[in-house]
Amino acid sequence: MHEWALVDALLKCAGRYAQENGLKKVDEVVIVLGDLQNADEACCRDIYNELKADAGALMAASVPVFEREKAEFKCRACGSKIQYAGREKLPPSESEAIHFVPETAGIYIKCPRCGGPDLEITAGRGVHIRELRGEK
Ligand SMILES: [Zn+2]
Repeated sequence: MHEWALVDALLKCAGRYAQENGLKKVDEVVIVLGDLQNADEACCRDIYNELKADAGALMAASVPVFEREKAEFKCRACGSKIQYAGREKLPPSESEAIHFVPETAGIYIKCPRCGGPDLEITAGRGVHIRELRGEK
């Protein structure tokens, strides 16, 4: 269950940020989930609500707001940018492979301009906090 560790880290990070920036309380935490991270939103929300009390008084009443970030690749050969439309476009086994090991994406996704398989992931990877909304 990698969601647990993810949310735990996010809460700690948000709590520290709120403290450093003198927030009195945090209402919402905008969390961006990269498509390649394969983190389940409902699952993250449940864990968030379970862990938030432990993250300190500032975080205890906060709610998570999730946003998805589409995956994007850049071809190392010709510099083209490729939007990865989502896993529904790929057969399930290939899609799973991409989610677990994004480095293998080039095996399945080829550059539409030059056909090169050497793609760099430029977006859609990992999870990060975009914004904290609360009271100063
Ligand atoms: Zn290319």
